[in-house]
Amino acid sequence: MGYKVKIESYFSAAHRLRGYHGKCENLHGHNWKVEISIISDRLDKAGMVLDFKKIKAMLNGVLNDLDHQELNKIAYFKKYNPTSELIAEYIFTKCSRKLKSPLVLESTSVWETPNSCAVYYKTLDDK
Ligand SMILES: [Zn+2]
Repeated sequence: MGYKVKIESYFSAAHRLRGYHGKCENLHGHNWKVEISIISDRLDKAGMVLDFKKIKAMLNGVLNDLDHQELNKIAYFKKYNPTSELIAEYIFTKCSRKLKSPLVLESTSVWETPNSCAVYYKTLDDK
């Protein structure tokens, strides 16, 4: 039992995939849609998990570092291939550091196209 809030945002960037044979090994761009989901077992005094404005500002702060970049040139993605899965994990790690108990980042979802989405999430067993 609990509460869940979600926010969507967007960023545009270019990437090329390493170790992959197909169109995506060439530099190309996407308009990525990102959704983050935050859960909590209780609400604040105002009756909210967290003000949507604050969630949006937090997410956009993280996406700002990716927007209009060539992802392969960002240090993290020199190490990890900039696939939607690993972009979702990157955003998850950055956002979850900014949340304090009782707020828990449940998942980040990254759409590379309107029909293709990768999700990074933690289960209750994860510490
Ligand atoms: Zn791509």
